Parts: sequence; C-alpha cells; structure tokens
Amino acid sequence: AIIIRQVHKVFGDLHVLKGVDLEVMPGTVTAILGPSGSGKSTLLRLINQLETRTAGEIYVDGELTGYKYVQTRRGRVLQTLDEKAIARQRSKIGMVFQRFNLFPHMTALENVMEAPVHVAAVPKAQAREEALAQLDRVGLADRVDYYPSQLSGGQQQRVAIARALAMHPDIMLFDEPTSALDPELVGEVLGVMRQVAGEGMTMVVVTHEMGFAREVAEQVVFMDGGVVVEQGGPEIIDNPATGRFKGFLATVL
Ligand code: ATP
Ligand code: MG
Repeated sequence: AIIIRQVHKVFGDLHVLKGVDLEVMPGTVTAILGPSGSGKSTLLRLINQLETRTAGEIYVDGELTGYKYVQTRRGRVLQTLDEKAIARQRSKIGMVFQRFNLFPHMTALENVMEAPVHVAAVPKAQAREEALAQLDRVGLADRVDYYPSQLSGGQQQRVAIARALAMHPDIMLFDEPTSALDPELVGEVLGVMRQVAGEGMTMVVVTHEMGFAREVAEQVVFMDGGVVVEQGGPEIIDNPATGRFKGFLATVL
C-alpha cells in the first residue's frame, strides 16, 4: 500500500504540492488525472524518492519513506535515512516514464538484464532467463536482440515495462506512459499495463487515457493546482462534482 499524508513540495518560491492526501490499496490501480503543471509527476517522483518532500509523510508497504524517527533527549526527531536504506525502499517500486529512457547502446535483453545484474547482483545466466521471460510477458519474445532504435515507440515502452518488472517491484508507477506514442501504438502498451494490473500489481498511473482509467482503475484522482480536487471510483469520470474536473474532462474527452 501507499499512504500519502499532507505532502507538500516547494521548488524555490513555487509551491507545487499543497497538502496531498492519498491512499493506494495493495493490488489496486489508481489513475491520476489533471492538467499540465498540477503536480502529478512531482507526486510520483516523491513516492519513488526521486525528489525529497518539503513536508508530510509517505508510507510504502507500511514503512515511512526517506526518514526515520529517532528518540533524543529533546524528544522524537526526524532523521534522513542513509543512501542504502533509501535504495532498499526504492527497489520496491518500478517506474515507467513518458519517454522510454532505455539505454540506446544495449539490446532489449541487455536493457532488462541491466538492473538485476548490476543492482540486485543476480547471476548473469539467471538474469538472462528472467529477462527473456519478462520480454515474453510483454509480447517481445521475437525482439530481444533489437536495439531501441530498431524498435517502435510502443515496443520500446514495453521493454521499459519489462525492465521495471524485472526488479520484482511491489508497486509500479507510470507517468503518462503513452503520451509520446503515435496513436496506433497506444493500445499495445495499455494492453500490457492492463495485463500487469490483472496479475495483481499495485499501480499508480498518470494518464489522459480515460478509457483505461474507466475500465482498469479502481480509484480515480483528479489533481489541480497541487491538491486533490476529486477522488473516487471510476464513475466520477462520468459524474464530475466540480467545475474544475468538468472543465478538464471537456479538454481530454
Ligand atoms: P504535466 O501534465 O505537464 O506533466 P504535471 O502535473 O506532471 O504536468 P509537474 O511536472 O509535477 O506537473 O510540475 C508541477 C509544477 O512544478 C510545474 O509548474 C513545474 O514547472 C514545477 N516543477 C517541477 N519540477 C520542478 C523542478 N525540479 N524545479 C522547479 N520547478 C519544478
Ligand atoms: Mg507530468
């Protein structure tokens, strides 16, 4: 599970997240919707500790991320976790970005093997077997030796998903995974995401794909101006309670 309590993020004099509360139950899919600049990517980056938060708490699998409470003579104080502890927390989370972020000089197989071998110290032969299985899972068994430049955007994005899955995360975060794709390639990536969701993965997906949000997400969250404006089941897409959500939906539907 992910529990987010009153999280704030300030960049310089820009107050980007202004007290976000959110809970994501294990094995569920949460779709985050919202206009450009509303803080969606920042929220995902905070969950995955690619940024540090300004205030508030984020728990992943029951564990406070980034910090620990220690008892001192002055009382309980918050201390930053060391790098190793943060790396361990981050290893529970896989992330897929809008741009595919594959290593261009490595084949699909090598991309998927990279972290298991170099981060998780999995023996090469075993990592290879597992990477082949992950690539098969995303429908790319026949493309394992292709370089990113030889793959379509949709295929590259499926490699990126396989690469994240290869680290056996508890949670997968997707930041507009289909926004950079040609329209005809969107379906194959959403199909893989739907399959991963069906296998019980906990997922948080920032997306403008309303069909996916309606059909796959258990929870839909609409953010605007650094706060959660509406939140509920997928039915809120068809019954927006606020003018802000209504207005946003008019721009994407
Ligand atoms: P989009 O739909 O365009 O991806 P978003 O909802 O993901 O938007 P964020 O990327 O979270 O929005 O950005 C929210 C605000 O924070 C924006 O105004 C952005 O310019 C600002 N911002 C994000 N990252 C940084 C940073 N590292 N330094 C300064 N400002 C930042
Ligand atoms: Mg974004």
